[in-house]
Amino acid sequence: MTVRLGIIGAGMIGEAHALRITQELTGARISALADVDPNNTARLAERLPGEVKVFDSGEDLIASGEVDGVLVTSWGPTHEAYVIAAIKAGKPVFCEKPLATTADGCQRIIDAEVATGRRFVQVGYMRRFDTGYRRLKTLLESGSLGEPLMIHAVHRNPEVPERYITPMAIEDTLVHELDTFRWLLGDDYVSAQVVFPRKTRHAHAKVEDPQIVLLETTRGVRIDVEIFVNCRYGYDIQCSVVAEDGLANLPQPESLEYRHAGKLSTDILQDWKDRFAQAFSVELQAFIDGVAGGEIAGPSSWDGLAAAVASDACVKAQNSGQIESITMPERPTFYA
Ligand code: NAP
Repeated sequence: MTVRLGIIGAGMIGEAHALRITQELTGARISALADVDPNNTARLAERLPGEVKVFDSGEDLIASGEVDGVLVTSWGPTHEAYVIAAIKAGKPVFCEKPLATTADGCQRIIDAEVATGRRFVQVGYMRRFDTGYRRLKTLLESGSLGEPLMIHAVHRNPEVPERYITPMAIEDTLVHELDTFRWLLGDDYVSAQVVFPRKTRHAHAKVEDPQIVLLETTRGVRIDVEIFVNCRYGYDIQCSVVAEDGLANLPQPESLEYRHAGKLSTDILQDWKDRFAQAFSVELQAFIDGVAGGEIAGPSSWDGLAAAVASDACVKAQNSGQIESITMPERPTFYA
């Protein structure tokens, strides 16, 4: 069976997902597109094989009989309404992060999904599908390192545009770590603090850079994450888990080592799209298989809410300079 997917939001990641599904993955084709800008849909439709129906609105795409599953890759503030519409139409929906821009919005999605008694939503936290993080999780779950005690993590980008402002270090950047560490540890956060080292001269006026986020989990694991989005040298993701009986590091992407002009060198990736290419493929294939098999898995609406609650606390901590508590609402058994 070839599942027919409709994409709402034909921008950067919508296009990347469409091309990946079409050129690399199996079991699906893009049957429909919608975007506020018809130039975006026209440009993307031209690059896709077969008949692609272009809709004026995301709502019409969701309602269409030519769509078995929906990908929401539009601007964050539009996600909630589209995801709820897809749930109400009984269509599986892959939603790029954030699930909604507020915890209340995530809760409304959860209420809509729980009311149907069935899972419809997969949230685009692709690091859970990255081979390195999966190996790390398998090792931790084996128990051979004992209980995890600390995580030291790094999220560095070469540079960010002018529109990237201080809270985006949490909402756009750290949010991936917020999801990943909950999943890696099988634990929730209880508090967050943000401290600001000396600012790099490469950061523009509206972004504090770098930042260090300190998190604590219910089991007392302490996590420090350095976010440095104007580091200049490359896209660099590091994660080191220190446990009672040993330590494990996230594997670094394979890179050619070369000797030249008196130096021993390896290249460092520059782009998150390259770093997580394999993870995006596995993530989207899981969604396609979920639509075909009638069972959606991967990061859930509950995980979307958990990331939103933790992200809100971190932004509050950026502003207050204090340790802010993180309190999750009671988890419906539906998401156990
Ligand atoms: P983008 O390039 O701006 O694309 C968004 C597209 O949605 C644009 O074509 C935009 O049109 C369109 N759009 C805006 N409002 C809409 C609406 N109401 N209905 C339909 N389409 C609408 O942004 P992007 O970088 O692809 O990001 C899209 C989403 O993916 C964001 O939520 C972002 O956080 C997420 N994302 C996730 C990752 C990841 O690592 N998982 C990476 C990148 C992005 P206009 O251009 O005319 O506004």
